[in-house]
This record gives sequence, structure tokens and C-alpha cells, in this order.
Amino acid sequence: LVGAFGLTEPNHGSDPAGMETTARELSDGSFVLNGSKNWITNSPIADVFVVWAKHATTGEINGFVVDRQAGVQTPYIPGKFSLRASPTGMIFLDNVQVPAENRLLITGLRGPFTCLNSARYGISWGVLGAARDCLQQTIDYLLTRRQFGRPLAANQIIQSKLATAASQVSLGLLASYEVGRWLDSPTTTKPESYPERISLIKRNNCQVALDTVRVCRDLLGGNGISDEYHVIRHMLNLEAVNTYEGTHDIHGLIIGRAITGIPAF
Ligand code: FAD
Repeated sequence: LVGAFGLTEPNHGSDPAGMETTARELSDGSFVLNGSKNWITNSPIADVFVVWAKHATTGEINGFVVDRQAGVQTPYIPGKFSLRASPTGMIFLDNVQVPAENRLLITGLRGPFTCLNSARYGISWGVLGAARDCLQQTIDYLLTRRQFGRPLAANQIIQSKLATAASQVSLGLLASYEVGRWLDSPTTTKPESYPERISLIKRNNCQVALDTVRVCRDLLGGNGISDEYHVIRHMLNLEAVNTYEGTHDIHGLIIGRAITGIPAF
């Protein structure tokens, strides 16, 4: 199962007109979907797709469960150096017919945003998990690797780098925890109305994680590029996570709009 969003990122949270994938409703209530999207996780192997599309008449965003057998084309994207455990592909919908009962019972931006908010919130924790693993590997290495009669961890520059990384990871975890409490609160009825909170932790924690693992990779010396220590693997995976579910800059624009009131997408 994959999430295939026809929505272009710059319009998230503001303008459904940015959605290019269309759903034309036929007289019997079924739909005909047209559109495409690049970089879809598992698309080459998925049996079923969740597709968001703009209703050709009403302009409302609708969600559809689409069966591969309906004629979905999903070419594989080769050469990926990140998240190599799962295949990524494109998705092409060329007059794909979808029965009426496959339309999700939700309309408007609430549909995709419910998915996006959950995914982005989860990412804000997950990237710090990768960073913590790298940090632990690095601390173990620095404590056991001895040079000139003492562990590398005994050097001031190294301890300062570890202190910065551990502080940033801890602050990121606290931020996600705080947003989690807000999401759980009974007074939080519409998290999609405040996308900037999710944007803040997705953007910040991806950056913190990337900064942390790059420092870890450096502190491991030559071993930092070996998959035996996993740091380089985490680092390359984090590059993709920094891009998907809204890039660093697009989340910056969402936060910037909240600060200034001016959409600069
Ligand atoms: P582009 O839109 O071409 O952006 C390129 C650069 O330009 C970025 O730095 C971006 O921040 C910047 N940019 C773009 N617009 C603006 C602007 N208005 N102002 C300033 N800067 C701008 N999508 C799904 O829907 N479902 C999936 O399952 C899925 N899985 C993925 C798996 C992987 C491994 C990857 C890499 C991506 C996946 N994606 C998925 C797609 C992902 O969401 C997009 O790659 C992401 O939204 C960026 O879009 P793009 O690649 O077209 O980059």
C-alpha cells in the first residue's frame, strides 16, 4: 500500500488548485483518474494505491483506493542510494477507472492532511532514532579507540561535538513530545489547521539528525564510511527523509507564512 499524492508541495495548506491529478465523475458514480507522480515508495510492487485527486467538476480533493489491475503504470526508479530496502517508482494514471465505492468518505484538504500530519509527526521521531543510534555507535567507538595512551573521547573538541549533538537530539525529542501532547489533547480538534507545528518538528528534527550523523561519520574516521558501523547507511537514508513528506525549504515556507502572514511558495 502506498500513498500517492497528486498535490504539489508548495500548495500544501493553502490552495487545492495545485493538485494536477484529476478525477472525472461518470453518470453511474464511478470515476476516471488522470495524472502522474514521481518518487512513490513501493509503487513497483504495490497491489493497491491511495490516490488524491481533484474532482474535475467541483474542484474538491477526493481520495481513492486504486487497484493495480485497473491499469496503473509504475516504472521502477533505478540507482537509488538511499532507503535501498524498498523500491521506489513512478505512478501513471491514464484514464484509470475506479468504482464509486473506492472513493474515500472524506473531501477537501482534511483527507491528505490527516495522512501528511501523521506521517510527518512520525518522521520527527524516527529521524532522531537514527541519530541516536549513530551517536551511541560513535560514543562506543570513541571510548574504545585509543591514541597516544588515552581514548579519543578524552579530547575536548570531541566532547564538545558530542555535547552539541546530544543537546540538539534531546531538544528535538522534547519538541516532538510536546507536539504529541498537543495532538493527544481533547481540545485539539483540527491538527490540519496548524500545519506549521508539524512542519517545525519535521524540518528541525531532519536537520538535527543530518547534522548529528554527519558529525558521527566524521568522528568515526575511516570507519564512518563502512556499513559495519551503519552511520553512512543512516546518513544516506536521512537525505531521502529530509526530502520526502515536504522538503526542508517547503516546510520553511509553511513556517514563514505563519510568521509573516505572506505565502511565499
Ligand atoms: P522538487 O519539487 O523538484 O524540488 C527540488 C528543490 O526545489 C527542493 O529543494 C525544494 O525544496 C525546492 N523547491 C520546490 N518548490 C519550491 C518553492 N516554491 N520555493 C522554494 N524552493 C522550492 N511522495 C508520495 O506522494 N508518496 C510516496 O510514497 C513518496 N515516497 C518517496 C520516497 C523517496 C525515497 C523519495 C526521495 C521521495 C518520495 N516521495 C513520495 C516524493 C517526495 O515527497 C518528493 O520527492 C518531495 O515532495 C520533493 O519533490 P520533488 O522531488 O519533485 O522535488
